Amino acid sequence: MFCVKCGREGRTYSALCRECFLQANRFTSVPEFLDLNVCAHCNDYLMGKRWKHYDLEEDAVKDYAADNIALRQDARIAELEVGAEKMDAKHYRVRMVAHLFHEDLEVAEDMETTVRVRRNVCPKCNKIQGNYFESIVQIRPSDKRFSDEERETVLNRALSYVEGMAKDSRDAFVAKVTQAHGGYDLYVSTISLGKMLSRDLVSTYGAEFKESSSLQGQKDGHDIYRVTYLVRLPPYRVRDIVLINGRLYMVHSTGPQSAKLRDLKSNELLTVMNQDLRDVKVVGTSKDVLDAVVLTETEREYQIMHPVTFRTVEIKHPRDFERKGDTVKVFPYEGELYFIGN
Ligand SMILES: [Zn+2]
Ligand SMILES: [Zn+2]
Repeated sequence: MFCVKCGREGRTYSALCRECFLQANRFTSVPEFLDLNVCAHCNDYLMGKRWKHYDLEEDAVKDYAADNIALRQDARIAELEVGAEKMDAKHYRVRMVAHLFHEDLEVAEDMETTVRVRRNVCPKCNKIQGNYFESIVQIRPSDKRFSDEERETVLNRALSYVEGMAKDSRDAFVAKVTQAHGGYDLYVSTISLGKMLSRDLVSTYGAEFKESSSLQGQKDGHDIYRVTYLVRLPPYRVRDIVLINGRLYMVHSTGPQSAKLRDLKSNELLTVMNQDLRDVKVVGTSKDVLDAVVLTETEREYQIMHPVTFRTVEIKHPRDFERKGDTVKVFPYEGELYFIGN
């Protein structure tokens, strides 16, 4: 074989020798200017069709330039070097070297482009600004009202659940939060997220859960519904002390169907269905539990100093319980002390 241009003999590429072929052909190109959109609210960058988070703008600029390289079909890039230089607040000069292969030829090609960073609003922030929501999660206390601290804890749990979901989906967000009826209304982006959030709260707190929907109108021939999830938290929380039929129990754990309670007299654990605990009376919380100094200890009982009256009192030492310090926790109720633990 010989080159049709210079006549050199040897391997040819489209009838040309290596040098003539490379002179006449280029495998990569990039537009002179590229516009990279950044959301003015969440600072995510639009890469192709997806909005993505970058810690450094320069990395977004480099990726964007690299993504916009047009490569001839008969070549493949083995390695790409990208360097970006900030010209001013909105412009980057990007230089790239592509090491590529065409058949058995190894070629390096230089490219340059200017990336212009444009401030825009992503669809998600646009929706949030427009208070877009498809479902409302109503978190309500029952019986006892939330303390400010607890209300905040419940809200933070709900918001961090949504934040976790938002890592995998830009459709997951809370458009707004309002205080209502001693609890919160969360305006949630989608119906499925509202449902998942409600279920999470139900299983964490053993809450009751009701769903209702209303027709909002039509879009593209489909009915548009808005769904409201009412999540009513039970009157008790884990570590609360409740009174049932004259006996005291500590709430050991809560779940979607049932709660585990510890009998403060017998120390036994029992499982009770959530619906049987709706009207239970909370007589104490972890704040009402006191430390009592242990004076002497036998296998069956402790002698302790009553934390309020300072008198010496005896209290049952539950089997298999090992105390960790000089004190044990007790709960005073109607003239009696109940053993709680460490
Ligand atoms: Zn040639
Ligand atoms: Zn945004």
